Amino acid sequence: MSPFNYKELSFQLSRILGKTLYAASSSVKNVAFFDGNANPLADVPGIEDSFMDTGKENYIQYMISADNKFSSIEPFGVIALKEGRLFLKGVDRIYSGEPKGVTVVTEELGDPILEQIKNSVNKEIVIWAEDGVMLSTIPIDKNAFGNRLGTAESGENIFATATINNREMGFSFYPIEDFDGNIIAYIGSGFDMNTVNDIFINNLIRFIPVIVIFSLVLFLILYSVLRQLFKPLNEIIGITEEISKGNYKITYPPNNIIEFSKILESIGKMSDAIEIREKELVLLSSIDKLTQIYNRQKTEEILGLEIQKANQTSHPLAIIMLDIDSFKAVNDTYGHKVGDMVLEEFVTILKKNIRPTDFIGRWGGEEFLIICPETNLEGAKTLANGLRKALEAHSFPIVVRKTASFGIAEYIPEEAVNAVMKRADDALYLAKKRGRNRVEGGPDSN
Ligand code: GH3
Ligand code: MG
Ligand code: MG
Repeated sequence: MSPFNYKELSFQLSRILGKTLYAASSSVKNVAFFDGNANPLADVPGIEDSFMDTGKENYIQYMISADNKFSSIEPFGVIALKEGRLFLKGVDRIYSGEPKGVTVVTEELGDPILEQIKNSVNKEIVIWAEDGVMLSTIPIDKNAFGNRLGTAESGENIFATATINNREMGFSFYPIEDFDGNIIAYIGSGFDMNTVNDIFINNLIRFIPVIVIFSLVLFLILYSVLRQLFKPLNEIIGITEEISKGNYKITYPPNNIIEFSKILESIGKMSDAIEIREKELVLLSSIDKLTQIYNRQKTEEILGLEIQKANQTSHPLAIIMLDIDSFKAVNDTYGHKVGDMVLEEFVTILKKNIRPTDFIGRWGGEEFLIICPETNLEGAKTLANGLRKALEAHSFPIVVRKTASFGIAEYIPEEAVNAVMKRADDALYLAKKRGRNRVEGGPDSN
């Protein structure tokens, strides 16, 4: 309900009353008639003089005289407040075949009209003006709303409550403006707050299934999003656990989420890098730094494995223990650096002259062990002699000649590592004892 409705109402009132009264030239009520020059066409009977339309009202005169043509007047309605009473005024043209003049109908806004409004909107109606309730369709105290309505702005809707006959009622008030746009009163439509509360609760109950379904849908969306997130996360955990166990060749399913694909890709790269580094480290930990052949630890490991193989296959296995002759003199004469150089070159000769299936390791300072799988004592002797001769024939820098002594032994199935090592060691000792640059080992060495 807006102020417009009252203008509309008063204009309708004017049309109906104006036309009827003019036609009947009734002298009953508060209707004013004006001619084209804004002259009153008839006296206005009815309500007290001060509230009557006498033809002197400025806006009527202005409307007619400004255009000097009353037929241009559009029907309109206004509300006026005079001495604490509200009046509806409807303005319209009068026709009787041709435009005849203007009619202004004035009707006091009183109980009958209020009841009419109440019935059309099906709500209690309260009019508030100046300092309190002026009219109402229900018994209500004049000061039920205090003074607060007086402070409202044009177009502002004010909500106010009041207890009437033990009923808590809420009212929506709208300002009523006069012809010049001044707020002259407020009209409020009221409703029982309990009904409103009931309606609110009813609506809420009606919405419960909607709320439940909405929550379910929300939960399902969340669940599927979380599942999408957790699945690849678990895969990542699984992959990293595999890597930590040393399984570097990881495979992973493609993932729709680009970030996860990137994480998996970089974990794959990291795993490859770790594998390469680990291989490097393993190699480093098993290689002698100076000579770049297996160190003692790795040599022992290989010997153990080869003994195992020999036991399983009953194939022969031989070892050659060799020691550089009078190496101390190299260091003493030319210094440690030359000694190192000779050691390196010595190993190069050895490596060149062993078979691809043989393993060579540095056993101690200038002592080496050659493991010869699929080789019997005779084979080892041949190999050792070949090495001995190659060394003997080689021209080393600075020291020129350098020889070595060799002790050979063949593994006897199921014997301990130490046993075969001892035989090789003893043979080497014998070779030294017998003048160096020799190969000893086997029955003919005794
Ligand atoms: P033999 O013929 O009886 O084996 O005499 P030898 O002098 O070779 O034997 P000995 O055990 O008396 O001396 C071995 C020397 O080898 C002593 C040590 O300083 C030297 N040596 C061991 N390892 C290295 C090394 O890495 N570099 C150098 N420069 N010398 C080494
Ligand atoms: Mg020596
Ligand atoms: Mg030695």
